Amino acid sequence: MLTLLKNARVHAPESLGLCHLLIADGRIAAITPASDASELPAHGPAVEVHDLQGRRVIPGLVDPLVHFIGGGGEGGFGTRTPELPLDEALASGVTTLVGALGTDALTRTPANLLGKARELAAGGLTTYCYTGSYQLPPVTLTGSVAGDLTFVPDFIGLGEVAISDHRGSQPSREELTRLAAETRTAGMLAGKGGIVFIHTGDAEGGLEPLREVARHSPIPLAQFLPTHVNRTAELFEDGLRFGREGGRIDFTTSTTPALLADGEVPAAHAVARALEARIEPSRITLSSDANASLPHFDAEGRFSGLEPGRLASLFETLGECIEQHGVALDKAIGVASTHAAEALGLPRKGRLRAGHDADLIVLAEDAWAIDEVWARGRRVHRA
Ligand code: ZN
Repeated sequence: MLTLLKNARVHAPESLGLCHLLIADGRIAAITPASDASELPAHGPAVEVHDLQGRRVIPGLVDPLVHFIGGGGEGGFGTRTPELPLDEALASGVTTLVGALGTDALTRTPANLLGKARELAAGGLTTYCYTGSYQLPPVTLTGSVAGDLTFVPDFIGLGEVAISDHRGSQPSREELTRLAAETRTAGMLAGKGGIVFIHTGDAEGGLEPLREVARHSPIPLAQFLPTHVNRTAELFEDGLRFGREGGRIDFTTSTTPALLADGEVPAAHAVARALEARIEPSRITLSSDANASLPHFDAEGRFSGLEPGRLASLFETLGECIEQHGVALDKAIGVASTHAAEALGLPRKGRLRAGHDADLIVLAEDAWAIDEVWARGRRVHRA
């Protein structure tokens, strides 16, 4: 069965104008200008045709950090955050999700994570996982990080390894270097990105542990993808320096009033400022941190409350980048889709072009809202 999406205003992320998209076997078979229909298949029973009537179509979002089995809870068992329901995921516009454990790697496990990834994939989405958690040595499925990357298709990197955070294992430079080397090499052998996804806490030191690794070893800075770089003003400034030095920086789109009051830089603002600061755009990404626990601690480090992260915040932040901060649509799509696909080593994701997976969002006509979500060639959500 072929599917033809007619009259789509395609942002791939670059603007292609009014086009027809032909989908076959879950992939984009062809994108042709609407003015030139000569190469399209004749309409017939084997072609399902949808006329999008000029609505904008953008790539499905790629989210490099989703706690899809929940996370936490830093306030005891009563504060564990719930799993991500499939319906919520399908409606979010995120079509590629990378799952991670967080603080708790005892009552939540790599096996849980893999099972949930497969559930979401059975619902039409594309899912991957990081092996490991905040703690070191990393918890794994097969006994080693290299084993997980080599033998389990779903595992594409290591994370969230926590640095500069009271909840992490306070890894030494040697430990971080060895793990980054293991992940990098296993990634190369398995044909995967082999990224080390880093949870950056708000403690003194910021991103310095990663610089230390790059300074004292041949591991490049870009092997790491540190997130929460917008969590405090200080960390954000450190992140801009890190970006200029060749590092990648990821901003968290889920937030709470308490985090903002504590000085968090809103993610859309962070994106606009990083672009203005002339950080190479391909090194800037966004992630939702969905279903994580977003705990607050008082000045003495005592737990004072928690809220779960939201997957929908990624699409919402994209809208804020465009509507409130004047970021061009193609640049905004880059930070919410294309760049993460590149950083994670997912060659068929993050762009609309022939040969890529047919993951896309049809935008509403006159507002920043989702009309339809298509994942691997199938419409999985309609507003
Ligand atoms: Zn984190």
